[in-house]
Amino acid sequence: MNDVTPVLLAEHVAKAYRDGAAAVPVLRDVNLSVARGETVAILGASGSGKSTLLHLLGGLDALDGGRVAIAGETLSGLSERARGALRNRRLGFVYQFHHLLPEFSALENAAMPLFIRRTPRAEALARAKAALEAVGLGHRLEHLPSQLSGGERQRTAIARALITEPACVLADEPTGNLDEETAAQVFESLLTLARGRGSAIVIVTHDRDLARRCDRTVRLADGVLIPVEG
Ligand code: ADP
Ligand code: MG
Repeated sequence: MNDVTPVLLAEHVAKAYRDGAAAVPVLRDVNLSVARGETVAILGASGSGKSTLLHLLGGLDALDGGRVAIAGETLSGLSERARGALRNRRLGFVYQFHHLLPEFSALENAAMPLFIRRTPRAEALARAKAALEAVGLGHRLEHLPSQLSGGERQRTAIARALITEPACVLADEPTGNLDEETAAQVFESLLTLARGRGSAIVIVTHDRDLARRCDRTVRLADGVLIPVEG
């Protein structure tokens, strides 16, 4: 991947779900190119297909048409195994619900992707500590998820998503179940950490004010992405 290769590219992406005999189109012709380090917000009504799109961008589901490339590699051209490896190497994920492992501390949760990569434990923990400090959780390292607030859990999930310094983070309504003030703080943590590490972000949100903090905003409607001004 060189500097001008998009970290994420969607071309003419189409996806329909089956409902009995009928195919219900969700995405008709989605086009998106995300540059290195760019932050992009996706707005769209409930049911417009935002989660479906993020799944496709992350290689978690198959397209009906078009192409998705991560860091210049077209997903459909890869074996399942190669796709998984590409995903692990290049992408990070944040969801509306944190999906932290309940029996592990915040520090261990944030370090988990590095444990899976067999990074030496001391190094993994040091990097996780730095990431948690960067999102303001330096004082919560040893807490279990059950001992953290909702915002703190999301910030731990954000630290975990960025610990491997992915080319792009895909975030599906990461602040969707938080109050307004906490949502703004968590959103800011995500942008700060990603920008500090040169990671791009594609973030689905309902909140237009939060979306404005990104470099660019697009709206998903009628199966296509359209730019949103200002
Ligand atoms: P959003 O995230 O924008 O709310 P989704 O991508 O979750 O939208 O869903 C878009 C549409 O596709 C909805 O009408 C939803 O019911 C439908 N849908 C999503 N996932 C599936 C699935 N696995 N099977 C069938 N229909 C689905
Ligand atoms: Mg959704």
